[in-house]
Amino acid sequence: MSTVPTIDLNNGVSIPQLGFGVYQVPPEDTKEATLTALEVGYRHIDTAQMYGNEKGVGEAVRESGLDRSDVFVTSKLNNGFHAYEDAIAAFDLSLETLGFDQLDLFLIHWPLPGIDIDFVETWKALEEVYRAGKAKAIGVSNFQPTHLRRLIQESEIVPAVNQIEVHPYLTQEDVRAECTEHGIAIEAWSPIAQGLVLDNPAITGIAKEHDKTAAQVVLRWHIQRGDIIFPKSVTRERVEENFEIFDFELPDGDMGLITALNQDQRTGPNPDEFNWIP
Ligand code: NDP
Repeated sequence: MSTVPTIDLNNGVSIPQLGFGVYQVPPEDTKEATLTALEVGYRHIDTAQMYGNEKGVGEAVRESGLDRSDVFVTSKLNNGFHAYEDAIAAFDLSLETLGFDQLDLFLIHWPLPGIDIDFVETWKALEEVYRAGKAKAIGVSNFQPTHLRRLIQESEIVPAVNQIEVHPYLTQEDVRAECTEHGIAIEAWSPIAQGLVLDNPAITGIAKEHDKTAAQVVLRWHIQRGDIIFPKSVTRERVEENFEIFDFELPDGDMGLITALNQDQRTGPNPDEFNWIP
């Protein structure tokens, strides 16, 4: 079985660089999908209140027979709970739904810059959760450089991670630079752009050279850039395929070719404009 490298977050907490994402996994299938991932060897699961499937993640961790401390679990605050007290209550509900005493990582899912609750207020609630020892680390998701700068200026704890959309068609160099400057680890969501990048001829060409699949090449590219990833699949063969990315290395030339595919093309919403509340 491959050994997954870990990354030390800015508070010393260690996170496996490869995990398993459960966005769009139906709640009724989440326990099974997560159990498959844990069986294959994944020890990091990325869920969110918005996905409606935290319960299945918690059940799978318990049924796997693994120690709770051996599985890194992240969840995220839903958009309707940005007010301070709402955020604290929503966090507690996440813990209850998962059936855990503590979360490994908890994130503000979206900055929602257009709503009348300032994300700095929301962050203060996450700081409270962290100080109470209820989450080992706290971070943000979909924060742009301007959002990060304000947050850092106006609060005490620097986020441990910023989870943003990154793949070969959206390399996000500006956000990455801002994160690096402040010691914030980058988590790349939709790492294969939900499959969109897999038939790109540059990528399929590199895959052929290395006797790997296009998905493995793209996931390896993320790993070598130092980002944390958690591809999603409900297909066991793909869950296994996505895990077999530690037995080859892309030379600088291939890394450069993939990075040059950037088109600033998002598959998801633009965080500067997204203010949706479910
Ligand atoms: P991914 O880039 O991981 O792509 C998932 C899609 O690709 C699925 O349709 C899956 O199909 C397919 N797929 C997976 N592996 C392979 C493979 N080896 N070959 C071919 N196709 C494959 O997209 P996601 O949007 O799911 O992103 C991953 C995770 O990132 C999410 O699950 C979630 O945890 C997180 N995320 C966070 C967001 C945020 O705002 N913070 C937003 C979006 C995602 P199938 O399942 O049918 O096998």
